[in-house]
Parts: sequence; C-alpha cells; structure tokens
Amino acid sequence: MQDLIELELRRPDAQDADAGYWSPFVQNLLRVICVVTADATSPEINRLRARLVEHRRQLSHPLHPQEARSVTAACVRDCEHYLQQTRHDHSAREAELADLVAILREAAARLVGDSVDFHATLLKGATRLHALRELDDIRELKRQLTDEVASLEQAVADKRKRDEDAIAALSERIDTLQSDLERAEAQASIDPLTKVANRGGFDRVLTRTVATARANGVALSLAMLDVDHFKQVNDTHGHQVGDRVLLCTAEWLRGAVRHTDFVARYGGEEFAVLLYDADLAQAETRFQRVIESIAGRSYEYDDHGTPRVVRFTVSCGLAELTSQDSDQDLVQRADQALYDAKRKGRNRVVCRRPSRLGRLLHLS
Ligand code: GH3
Ligand code: MG
Ligand code: MG
Repeated sequence: MQDLIELELRRPDAQDADAGYWSPFVQNLLRVICVVTADATSPEINRLRARLVEHRRQLSHPLHPQEARSVTAACVRDCEHYLQQTRHDHSAREAELADLVAILREAAARLVGDSVDFHATLLKGATRLHALRELDDIRELKRQLTDEVASLEQAVADKRKRDEDAIAALSERIDTLQSDLERAEAQASIDPLTKVANRGGFDRVLTRTVATARANGVALSLAMLDVDHFKQVNDTHGHQVGDRVLLCTAEWLRGAVRHTDFVARYGGEEFAVLLYDADLAQAETRFQRVIESIAGRSYEYDDHGTPRVVRFTVSCGLAELTSQDSDQDLVQRADQALYDAKRKGRNRVVCRRPSRLGRLLHLS
C-alpha cells in the first residue's frame, strides 16, 4: 500500500506545454491501478496488468498529444473491458478500480478537449503573426508583434494553470480513494472476534517482514500457538464462553510480547506471532515465559450468579527463518514444531530447526 502513496506529479518541462503535463499523471495513475490490482489473480486481471504495463512503457517516451490521448483512451478501454468481464462479481477492489478508471477517463477527456481549444488559440495567434508580414510600418510591426507574443505567452500560462488545477483536483480524488482503500484493507485484515490480524493480514505481513529481515540481515522467528483441549472449553462452558476465552488469549498474547512482535489469529484456536529481530534461542526463552504466564492465569465469568473459572494452557512451536526458507517453509516448520509440542504432552515450547537433509537439498 505504501507504493500507492508514492503518487508524485512531476513538473512538466517549460516547452512541453501539452501532453507533457498529462503523460506523467496518466502514467502514475496506471501505476496506482496496477498496485490496486496487485494481489488479485485471474487470467483477466493478469491480461489487464500486462496491457497496462505496455501502456505505461509507451507513455514513458515523449509523445505527441494525439498519441498520448490515444494511449490514454486505450487504457480506459482495457480497464472497462476488464470491469465488464468481471461485472458479475464486483468486489470492493473492483469498485475502487472503477473509480480510478473514471479519473483516467476524465484525464483522457481533458487531454483532448482542452488541447483542441488551446491549439485553436495558438493557431489563431500564428495566423495573426503571419498577417504581420503585410505591415510596412516597422514601429507598428514591433508593437503588434509584442502584443501577439504577450497574448501567446498568456495563452500558454492559462493552459498551464488549467492543467495544474485539473491535475490537483484529480490527484485529490486519488488521495481520497487511496485512504478509503487502505481503511477497507485494514478492516479486511482484522479478525472481528479477537481484534488481532486474521490469516490474510498475517500472510501479507509475513511476506513483508521476511523481505525486511532479509534486507537488513536481521533474525526473524515465528511462533505458532494453539490452545490445548479447547474443544473441552466449548463443551464444558459453551461456545460463547469459548469465544471470550479466545479473545482473552489474544489479549494476553498481545500483552506478553514486545510491541514490535506481530500477533495474528491464524485460524480457530491457533495464533501466530512474528518475532522480528529474535533468533530461535531468544524466541524460546520469551515464549517459555509466555506459555507459563497463560497457564498461571484464568478466565473468570458469571454463570447466572455462579462464579466460574476457566483455566487452560497453550502449546507453542517455534522456527527461525533461514536463508533458504520461503515464507511457507517458515510457517511449515513452526507448525511441525507445534505438532511436536502437542505430541509431547502440550503446554510446552518446541523448536524446530531445518533438517540436515533439507539443508543439503537446498544446497545441491
Ligand atoms: P488440541 O489440544 O489437540 O489442540 O485439542 P483441541 O480440542 O484444542 O483441538 P480440536 O481441533 O479438537 O478442537 C478445536 C475446537 O476449537 C473445535 C472448534 O469448534 C473450536 N473452535 C474453532 N474456532 C472457534 C471459535 O471461533 N469459537 C469457539 N468457541 N470455538 C472455536
Ligand atoms: Mg487446540
Ligand atoms: Mg487447533
């Protein structure tokens, strides 16, 4: 999403008074559309993305206004074609895309409409300059020439002002769309019950954090936790209490880890915690404390006047990112470690290192 905010409008060259204003704008808009659709996958969206990349490439060269207009119009057509194909199941993302296309369409219309008037003004000025050849009076010629130059300069300045105002207004609409989209994405990433990130949010953060840890040469560990015998909690106290126990577990987990650690509900009664800048040994020490603290606490509630207490434990599997790991390798190893923790009797932390065979296979 950060990329989306990088929409910067380059100032056009002084003599590039026409397509020069709009090409960078349209190009950036196309980049936004590509980013908006970045994590969607379908043959249609892949085709659209490939077409938009091609249009952006064309717009990166200096273009005559008419050419810029036809490329922009082709972008609009491609986007609209995609939206028509997917009309039956428009998601929120496609609604955003439709809004961006509306802005693109407006940009295309301005690229043509205003330019036609502008060219007409320039043409009139040029015709008048041509007529000055007929004047014999050198003083009068100078005076009229000065007037014509001033009026042409004014026409160019007016056009520039109109373009700048139009671009500013359209950019403002894009900014609003971006923040709407970011808010919608953030909401879609939150688990409504526990208020921590859901699986989708976790996957996105995992990919980003793995890349950051690699780029900075920083250790990254992953803890997978699962509430022990949670079915019994539901069976004994009911599903609603089960829900509140899950909310409680998420809060306890959040309270027990550093603010830089990322807590997510991976699914059901399973949680994941990403520990940036923590190796396996550090993660093990920390999570030993975390699961001991959870085992020592209790969730208390009132059952029609009778105080009830729920005590439970969690099991934890840990893995540390290696240079050969994919995101999913890390998740898989932490999950296997969690499985081992369950098998060994629950309420414990188990670490899993990559197998020697696995390492050898990666090296070969
Ligand atoms: P183990 O120690 O092996 O993990 O045993 P378990 O009972 O915790 O695991 P099992 O997979 O047998 O049962 C998990 C239960 O968690 C079953 C499912 O109904 C319950 N569960 C999953 N999601 C929710 C939820 O959102 N709310 C409630 N109340 N229960 C849930
Ligand atoms: Mg469980
Ligand atoms: Mg489970």
